[in-house]
Amino acid sequence: MEEINICSPRQINKILEDFCLHPHKKWGQNFLADNNIVNKILTEVDLKQNERIIEIGPGLGALTLPMVKKSAFVLAIEIDSGLVCFLKRLMEAYENICILEDDIRKVDTSSIKHFLEEEGKPVKIVANLPYYITSPFVYRLFEEEICWEKAVLMMQKEMAFKLQASPGSYYYNSLSVLCSYFTHIRTPFNVSSSVFYPAPQVDSTLVVMEPKENRELINLEKEYIKLVSEVFRYRRKTMVNSLSYYLNWDRSLIKKFLLEAEIDPQQRPDSISYEKFANLCRLIYN
Ligand code: SAM
Repeated sequence: MEEINICSPRQINKILEDFCLHPHKKWGQNFLADNNIVNKILTEVDLKQNERIIEIGPGLGALTLPMVKKSAFVLAIEIDSGLVCFLKRLMEAYENICILEDDIRKVDTSSIKHFLEEEGKPVKIVANLPYYITSPFVYRLFEEEICWEKAVLMMQKEMAFKLQASPGSYYYNSLSVLCSYFTHIRTPFNVSSSVFYPAPQVDSTLVVMEPKENRELINLEKEYIKLVSEVFRYRRKTMVNSLSYYLNWDRSLIKKFLLEAEIDPQQRPDSISYEKFANLCRLIYN
């Protein structure tokens, strides 16, 4: 297939028409329509030759094609069969891409382990994420045993605030705690909704995460994720109450652990730092 250049809403519209495709709102299909932004994202990915990339939701290939051309080996997971057909034609000349038609929420990691582990090296994860899966996807990054070295994710600006929020702030939630514990996180730039076609209602932010090395709870991380998620289900309750719902233990024992972890039992979950959650996790599960 002839090479295409997706750099304007007009061109995207033409491709969609030519291939009888329609942007589906339910799958968050807002395609990148600005080469300048594509290049800025790829600068953050910082591709090396033969590197392994997992891309979630390649869409029309705005990020995929330049990565493949740079000789990265890309595993692209796309839910929409129409887009998968288009991408297979677009990429037919390249052998360093594997397009998987699947729902990222259901992909069994063991089915992509051969891709991940062939080289024994960590992968990079790249996505202009559909908004409806951003939270579950970020949780999965921490829960799964995929070895990744960098995640470059475009997401709704408000979600990026949540991932970076500090204790006591309006946006602080369980994902803020987990991101601070697991990663070094930064947000190199924001983009206005006008760089997408069709334009979404909200602006977006590029988030770059790199896993922290030497994390302190290396054998208790599943428990840490569970503890933080459960406690935040009752974010308006005090710590002693929300932990009582979760653990169903005697309140005096819970108070003792909280005090040992340097947490006031009357504090609310949204004022507790990731380090204090780590203290608490160690006390409860060790
Ligand atoms: N990467 C393309 C770009 O930047 O132009 C498209 C990004 S668009 C915001 C999100 C893409 O994710 C769409 O192609 C959509 O079909 C795909 N998608 C939505 N939900 C998905 C899911 N559960 N699993 C895999 N892909 C999904």
